[in-house]
Amino acid sequence: MHCFNHPDKPAIGICKSCSKGLCPDCATDLDYGLACKNKHEESVKNINLIISKNARIFRTARKSTLIGPAFLLFMGMVFLGSGLFATEWIQWIPVLLGSGFTVFSFVTFFNGRAMWGSKKPKKHHHERDE
Ligand SMILES: [Zn+2]
Ligand SMILES: [Zn+2]
Repeated sequence: MHCFNHPDKPAIGICKSCSKGLCPDCATDLDYGLACKNKHEESVKNINLIISKNARIFRTARKSTLIGPAFLLFMGMVFLGSGLFATEWIQWIPVLLGSGFTVFSFVTFFNGRAMWGSKKPKKHHHERDE
């Protein structure tokens, strides 16, 4: 790949905004990516702003995955607790239900963790070369 502005020079990377090849003279290094000098610095900054905002949203969503399991566990405990006062067989039905809730709460909890654990951001930027 060669610089978009200087076809004789090899590109060191691509602009994060317009994906054109850039040589050291044409690129502005913004730490988190390259931008066309005097042209796309602002839009690349905005792109990175959006990405970091999304990362924050993901972190918040990660927290909320605990609410479901916690609620299920609470329901499970309530139903299981009602078993303490069970005198008739029919009163054991909520207990069965409660153990179901409890198991389900653990399943969703560990599912949620596995899901978020595997969602690492993949890096695939300006590694293309001729
Ligand atoms: Zn650009
Ligand atoms: Zn150039």
